Amino acid sequence: MNRLQALVDRARRIVFFGGAGVSTASGIPDFRGAEGLFRMQFGDLTPEMMLSESFFYLHPERFFAFYRAYMLHPEAQPAAVHRKLYELERADRLRGVVTQNIDGLHRAAGSRRVYELHGSVHENYCMDCNRFYSLQWLLSTEGVPRCESCGGVVKPYVTLYGEAPDKYTCMGACREISNSDLLIVAGTSLSVEPAASFLDYYKGRDLVIINQEETPADRRATLVLRGDVNQIMSELVVQSQR
Ligand code: NAD
Ligand code: ZN
Repeated sequence: MNRLQALVDRARRIVFFGGAGVSTASGIPDFRGAEGLFRMQFGDLTPEMMLSESFFYLHPERFFAFYRAYMLHPEAQPAAVHRKLYELERADRLRGVVTQNIDGLHRAAGSRRVYELHGSVHENYCMDCNRFYSLQWLLSTEGVPRCESCGGVVKPYVTLYGEAPDKYTCMGACREISNSDLLIVAGTSLSVEPAASFLDYYKGRDLVIINQEETPADRRATLVLRGDVNQIMSELVVQSQR
């Protein structure tokens, strides 16, 4: 913890790169962690199959049943880690949060410089006329949500397996990562591409990994903290930029 504090204190451009483990403290299960969704049984189907682009088009009813039951957590609130990152941004210490999460909790905590690589459950669009719909609206519908203007299917703006993430969000995230001098990677198994390769853009001084399990990037890190990211980040003391 002291070493993390020292690295944070001397850094000038911090970027935080997070995954599902950042939101487990908010009550949202991750995929590959000890209590992750990937350990659950869904007959012959895996969550990865049900969250794929082809499944969405072939079985929209079943896609939305799974999506509504397991990917939507409208009651979830930002946890200490989300709030600490907002505090770091406000103190001009943090350049950006790059996240693979789709839960919108960084924005809910107040963070503005957020790169949601896989989109957000808060954004939904009609596939025919592009009309926008909120999460609240989606929750008020049942089955396959249909556009009120044209009857088209309303698709969540989240990156499904087999789909490419938004190019501009990726470009912005890579730019922040390559310009940073401290990259904190937390709560991610680093197994989802292309997000995991984003670390290759990092050429700064210090790399910190905070994760409950081993990750493929551990051996490249200045510091590896094996523990709860929510607790570790909550203990950081934020000093304003000198
Ligand atoms: P992952 O499930 O593959 O890996 C999560 C990692 O975080 C695991 O290694 C686990 O050990 C670790 N972890 C869990 N809780 C932790 C904690 N409190 N402190 C420290 N480490 C903790 O997640 P991923 O790498 O982000 O990839 C999963 C994909 O699924 C992403 O693309 C994401 O879009 C999606 N997803 C999003 C959410 C969300 O929005 N909250 C939740 C589940 C999955
Ligand atoms: Zn429409």
